[in-house]
Amino acid sequence: MSEAPRSDLIETLVSLAKQRGFVYPSSEIYGGINALYDFGPLGTRLRRNIRNRWWRAMVELRDDIEPIETSIIMNPQVWVASGHVGGFSDPLVDCTGTCRKRWREDHLAAERTERGKDPEVRACPECDGPLGEPRQFNLMFRTFLGPVEEAAATVYLRPETAQGMFVNFQNVVNSTRRRLPFGIAQNGRSFRNEISPGNYIFRLREFEQMEMEYFCEPGTDDGLFEYWCAERHRWYIEDLGVRTVNLRLRPHEKDELAHYAKAANDVEYLFPFGWSELEGIANRTDFDLSAHQKHSGRDLSFYDQAANRRFVPYVIEPAAGVDRIFITLLCDAYDEEEVRGETRVVLRLHPDVAPFQVAVLPLSKKPELSELARSVEHDLRSRFATEYDETQSIGRRYRRQDEIGTPLAVTIDFDSLEDRAATIRERDGMTQVRVPLEGLPAALGEQLDACRARALDRAQGS
Ligand code: ATP
Repeated sequence: MSEAPRSDLIETLVSLAKQRGFVYPSSEIYGGINALYDFGPLGTRLRRNIRNRWWRAMVELRDDIEPIETSIIMNPQVWVASGHVGGFSDPLVDCTGTCRKRWREDHLAAERTERGKDPEVRACPECDGPLGEPRQFNLMFRTFLGPVEEAAATVYLRPETAQGMFVNFQNVVNSTRRRLPFGIAQNGRSFRNEISPGNYIFRLREFEQMEMEYFCEPGTDDGLFEYWCAERHRWYIEDLGVRTVNLRLRPHEKDELAHYAKAANDVEYLFPFGWSELEGIANRTDFDLSAHQKHSGRDLSFYDQAANRRFVPYVIEPAAGVDRIFITLLCDAYDEEEVRGETRVVLRLHPDVAPFQVAVLPLSKKPELSELARSVEHDLRSRFATEYDETQSIGRRYRRQDEIGTPLAVTIDFDSLEDRAATIRERDGMTQVRVPLEGLPAALGEQLDACRARALDRAQGS
């Protein structure tokens, strides 16, 4: 059974994220700007850890995937060939009643349900006013290359990173001498002028993707599609610690499939606003390479020497979003519990995604304690993501570390000056152990392994 998420969880997280430095509204001093956000000191660390976990699983631990970084602005013909210029659009409807808001036609029912209104009625979700006829609205941001603002100089900010991999397929084959099957992976910013962005950082106009195109021989694609669906689902649970009960793999219905896809599954998370997509895994067949081959006039086929056969490879694509994983981790990790009559807020983040793994806290600001604590923290930096904090009472500092998800805290007290030992406090159970300073790195390493095992137990629901 899935857990029913708290309906006010997003508001709680918006406030915690702002206060603690995870997420700020973009250009806030000017009143912000819709569907754009900045990431603060902790949010930046959390995002980097998400990317690193993906990079480790998709590139470092594999011998069949090459990384690439391609430009955000590409030759506009790329987007003509891919179908984005002609068809990357959503149906837009205007409210012609009092509020005059714009909606996505295909989101009307969900927007009405969210506001407690009858989803069957075709009327404005906000003011119940009449709606105009739907118009197609292209989601790509346009700009001009060079000083002259004319149609011939129009270029686009990429709406996905995938096309950078397709147009470089032949370059990667030639420069790496790769044989099929193999993948090309890329992480970077993408831009979509979404009609109805929202749900905090779930639907943004500037966001970050982590995509991989896995090129294979036609006929092997069905098996590889199944493999990548299982592998990507596993990654959320084992590498990020997301709870299985809140995660599902949902196959697309036939009428929902994108025109280029033979099959598609979404990895979805149960947010307070309902089940929503974190990652899409699609069998894109040879659609993209064939389209680019046709439009560019370049040969994008692959020559299989062993079989003496030339063909256009099929592609399996797992495409994930950093921002959606970010909000998933906050939702999934957030917990409140009663401790000695007070509410303790804990982010039960996996130790490999938490902004800090170890906080070093001197019991007081006395110079001799600060000096020892600073040198301990300095020595731990090369092995762990550490933070030093000597402000406020020790109790409040523990609370802060719990709230930002730091799995371990090392406290240096007056006894430490005599016995050269420190106390390790663990976030989830709040247990404490005393260890000699010289054995601290090893003890912290062991404790982090125990935290990883607990994160897996929690994710698997045992
Ligand atoms: P949706 O149906 O929610 O609009 P999509 O199916 O168009 O998403 P894809 O084109 O498959 O999304 O993009 C792959 C991934 O990129 C998504 O699973 C999501 O994690 C991320 N993503 C796409 N659009 C956005 C957005 N506007 N804001 C944040 N992340 C996004």
